[in-house]
Amino acid sequence: MTYIGSLDQGTTSTRFIVFDDLGEIIGQSQVEHQQILPQAGWVEHDANEIWKNTVKVIEDGLKNANLKMNELSAIGITNQRETTVCWSRATGAPVSNAIVWQDTRTAEYLNSFSDENKALITSKTGTPIAPYFSASKMNWILKNKVATPTDDLAFGTIDSWLLFKLTGVFATDVTNASRTQLMNLETLDWDDQLLKIFEIKREWLPEIKSSSEVYGKTVEGVPVSGILGDQQAAMVGQTCFEKGESKTTYGTGNFALISTGSELVRSKHGLISTVLFKLGSSQVQYALEGSVAVTGSAIQWLRDQLGIIKSAAEVEALAASVPDNGGVYFVPAFSGLFAPYWRSDARGVIVGLTRANTKAHIARAALEAICYQTKEVLDAMEADSGIRLREMRVDGGITNNKLCMQMQSDIMGIDVVKPVITETTALGAAFAAGLAVGVWKDTDQIKKIWKKEATWNCQSSEQSRNSGFEMWRKAITRTFDWVN
Ligand code: ADP
Repeated sequence: MTYIGSLDQGTTSTRFIVFDDLGEIIGQSQVEHQQILPQAGWVEHDANEIWKNTVKVIEDGLKNANLKMNELSAIGITNQRETTVCWSRATGAPVSNAIVWQDTRTAEYLNSFSDENKALITSKTGTPIAPYFSASKMNWILKNKVATPTDDLAFGTIDSWLLFKLTGVFATDVTNASRTQLMNLETLDWDDQLLKIFEIKREWLPEIKSSSEVYGKTVEGVPVSGILGDQQAAMVGQTCFEKGESKTTYGTGNFALISTGSELVRSKHGLISTVLFKLGSSQVQYALEGSVAVTGSAIQWLRDQLGIIKSAAEVEALAASVPDNGGVYFVPAFSGLFAPYWRSDARGVIVGLTRANTKAHIARAALEAICYQTKEVLDAMEADSGIRLREMRVDGGITNNKLCMQMQSDIMGIDVVKPVITETTALGAAFAAGLAVGVWKDTDQIKKIWKKEATWNCQSSEQSRNSGFEMWRKAITRTFDWVN
């Protein structure tokens, strides 16, 4: 048997999963880390704590799999994207806490950019001007004299931090680099104009490599040979290798990606253009990405704030106790709307209420909201790419809700497909790592490993789909202009 380790460094926890060459999980371990919230809008992680947790989950995951480190053929890394670490290459010590993707402290700085620079950044990187991306976070660390601009300074996303600690090599992969706002999407290199705007020196940044190659070896001699940002890893784990293939991860929020193949498509509908992967020397593949801020967290809200369910899973039975939404629409724009609207002035609404409505209608409307928001992102993808989706692959916590998945198929009018192995993020990094060292010879061989667990087929008429969607759009307009 051949074994591959996958290090999945997420926003709230770090996991290590050992897979065999059939993609089965052999063992795993997970540890949570502290969310440091120094003031409103600031979110930090202790990079040292993440490194210590990494060492621990690798050790415990191997123990759980009953394996030794040198029995692994390769290790892959997948990570929370955009989160920025700054450290000294000489000492290997972080100079500050990592600034997390959710952190908004650089919003004002970015607002001060000229329209010309804003347009340049968006056209070169495929991303909107937002504190979400790494470059403004790096600038903040320098401006606030947290780090002295010395030659041995290192800025990187979490993947390059962990690769550096595991192997001593200072590198990143194209998918992570595409989220920094410093890489040119076409040349796949750090861009001098962008570096100048953000006042970052090329020497401080890692070398950009493909997503699947041997970057370096651990002290035990195990090659680290796959790196992908988490959403891109999920695409690989879902074996979405071809143009037009798409997956949606349903968690606290939703992330949908569609492959646009070797074509870099620029969005006119509020999506992000991003690198999907580059497997070794093969041609780079691009994707369009859309995110929905509130999906699973709306279910948490029903549980924790309204108290109409005791657990997230209970929402399914409550929603199924009524045949339809009873005219109720719920737009959970708790902190504005993300793709495709990008309206920070929006706030949540529950509309269409009559005396006859019950908590069951609200529960049903909450599930429909997850599906309608996802549909709007996929509609934007189709409009931008000209690709007509045939099916959508799904993963994440909400996919356990069969009613919600059926609704999703009915609302979108296409098949919704869930795989047997839903640990798609970790699996994707394992696939990338295994490909580089010959565990699998190509993506065709990997496709044979991927298996369907369930398919939901559309059971709605076009007319009912259209009328439901029309009402949803009307509800969306009611959220606008609520706050200044
Ligand atoms: P994340 O990785 O973002 O933490 P998960 O994939 O673990 O998310 O999914 C958890 C989210 O899914 C929670 O917000 C929870 O409310 C929601 N959720 C979990 N189970 C169900 C269910 N059966 N029906 C609807 N929502 C659910």
